[in-house]
Amino acid sequence: TINVIALDDHGEMCVGVSTSGYPWKYPGRVGDSALPGAGNYCDIRIAGAACTGRGELSMRAVGARTVVDLIRDGLEPSSACVEMLKDAASLPDTFRAELRVLALTPDGRHGAAASQAGSEYVVMTTADAEPRILPRTIAQDPA
Ligand code: ASP
Repeated sequence: TINVIALDDHGEMCVGVSTSGYPWKYPGRVGDSALPGAGNYCDIRIAGAACTGRGELSMRAVGARTVVDLIRDGLEPSSACVEMLKDAASLPDTFRAELRVLALTPDGRHGAAASQAGSEYVVMTTADAEPRILPRTIAQDPA
């Protein structure tokens, strides 16, 4: 799955989420990518957010919408991403699985988190000659 959050010079913003392709797309499973609120969410007043990883977790946690709500409540994007992942990991009767999330606000603040180490995200603005690869904040490491 690829997550993209785009913001233009006029403050217009959108979130795009691919799916993983064939893996996990057995008959009857939609996955979180196509579900606004779970795999993607965009509220131009607050932020956009998108998830990748085990979709069952972001569906149960309403992951992307939860991140946007946490930013609305005052958290910075990376903190909002971490809090959502912690909440997803603490859901009852769930399993440990990898989940990653990123967020961007209309004023250009961004952040990303992952439930496991070794995950990055990429930022590029009109001021950047090349994309910048940044580490995601780790929310939980099952090691
Ligand atoms: N989130 C996708 C799904 O659960 C998988 C992925 O991110 O690769 O279908």
